[in-house]
Amino acid sequence: MKLQDLNIVVIGAGIGGLAAGALLAHKGAAVTVLEAQDYPGGSAATFSRNGCHFDAGATIGCGFHAGAPMETLAKELGITWPVEPEAVAWQYRHRALLLDLQPNRLDILERFPHSAPFWAEQHALAKLLWHFSEGGLSWPVKGASDLLRLARKGIAGFSGTLHLLPFARKTAHEWLASHGLDTDPDFVRFIDAQLLISVQTTSQHANAINAAIALDLPVAGAYHVKGGIGTVSRMLVDSIEENGGAVLYRKQVIRIDSVRWQVFGVETSDGSALAADYVLANLTPDSLAPFIEAEDEPVAERGEGLLWSAYTLYLGMDPALFGALSSRHLQIIGSSGELAEGHSIFVSVSFPDEPDRAPAGLCAVTISTHTRPEQWFEAKKRGESVYSELKSLYTERVLHVLSEQFPDARNAIRSITAATPVTWERYTGRVHGCVGGYPQTSLFKVRGPLTRFDNMFLVGDSIFPGQSLPGVVTGARRTVELLLQRNAKVG
Ligand SMILES: Cc1cc2nc3c(=O)[nH]c(=O)nc-3n(C[C@H](O)[C@H](O)[C@H](O)COP(=O)(O)OP(=O)(O)OC[C@H]3O[C@@H](n4cnc5c(N)ncnc54)[C@H](O)[C@@H]3O)c2cc1C
Repeated sequence: MKLQDLNIVVIGAGIGGLAAGALLAHKGAAVTVLEAQDYPGGSAATFSRNGCHFDAGATIGCGFHAGAPMETLAKELGITWPVEPEAVAWQYRHRALLLDLQPNRLDILERFPHSAPFWAEQHALAKLLWHFSEGGLSWPVKGASDLLRLARKGIAGFSGTLHLLPFARKTAHEWLASHGLDTDPDFVRFIDAQLLISVQTTSQHANAINAAIALDLPVAGAYHVKGGIGTVSRMLVDSIEENGGAVLYRKQVIRIDSVRWQVFGVETSDGSALAADYVLANLTPDSLAPFIEAEDEPVAERGEGLLWSAYTLYLGMDPALFGALSSRHLQIIGSSGELAEGHSIFVSVSFPDEPDRAPAGLCAVTISTHTRPEQWFEAKKRGESVYSELKSLYTERVLHVLSEQFPDARNAIRSITAATPVTWERYTGRVHGCVGGYPQTSLFKVRGPLTRFDNMFLVGDSIFPGQSLPGVVTGARRTVELLLQRNAKVG
């Protein structure tokens, strides 16, 4: 069918669904995005509460530098992101150690001078990986044309390609060990903290190649998105609408209609039904499964590792607490040195240059910590008081870690809202509220956009290359490419 005649329904207005929808609408297809909430963005939304505009999950803009996925997407859609590079991506704090993560890695090299050869190798690997990802990534490979494209890129960077191969099967820990860095607990903790928030696992399990690109973020550049990270999704919605598409809110898809290998349309909880030539599901496979008679085992049982959710606090705070910070973002590891479960936190603070984010005399603060979801659902099952107790425990842990660095933190709080994995499940539709992406442990176990239906594809951070705005946009590009290939074949 001609692209102009295609009716495409996207389930979910997360970054993945919106990016794919915007690319297809720009090419002329009729795109309708159905979103369960009353605003777009999912894990990368900005929402209003207590007079503040809080980033729900994602807070750091990445992939906006020249040639990177967000920049390429904007060029193609003819939009300009309201972003500016941050001088310091974030500040790492553990006890008395303060490191500003800057493109020149000055603080890191001063504190860990023996790590210089490791960073030189990381830089070379990341450069090569950025080269590979330009114009999209044909991975996992689906046919001869993908192989040919990869081979062309590989030949273009031939010596580098050979250099990559040994890393493809190494863990980040083995890579650290090859530089004698695995025996420095401070350095390993620092690296583990970076990997946990990016590739969702620590050096023992993270794949070295995934780690190399994740550790490149402060060098490639972190960007501040004006108005909050939700600006990105709102602009993608505008782009879809300008190209004749529609984004409909409070439209929770509850049924996908199919016969054998074809889907025909979707039904929503308010009783409407929509026909579709193609459906893009901005859902994790676990969340999609109930709609389509599960074709997959639960993710955790496929050996992709345990999944994380998040415990998040949204605080209206007195900005005087923070003084003059070098960055809007702080990664704080509590004095125990443990990671996740409230012992390490990521704090994002709105600055006075964004007066619309909070009422006068306040700043909007998002704090998140990784948490395993199962305990939260168990607590919820046992009753409201058990669940509330768990919430209080985690709030206390998070505020304790914040107070280690900012002793007056508790007194600076003017409003507080918490989101547990139970909240995240309700809000994103993800089973167990598993947000933040999949642990990146192997390049060979990744998932692509195909489902068992010929005309339904996945999009979002459960497909390669995974989480983050640029990751999800790269995946969305791949989904669009496969849809167009499939459509061309069908004729
Ligand atoms: C705490 C946290 C911090 C993060 N920090 C960063 C960061 O700083 N920088 C960064 O780049 N990335 C960050 N990420 C990762 C990033 O936010 C995600 O990888 C990305 O936003 C996921 O997008 P997605 O397209 O997979 O969709 P999701 O965000 O999961 O959105 C899916 C959408 O689909 C909707 N939906 C679900 N089911 C249905 C249904 N049945 N019918 C209709 N609609 C439905 C949901 O309401 C939602 O809007 C962070 C994530 C978290 C949780």
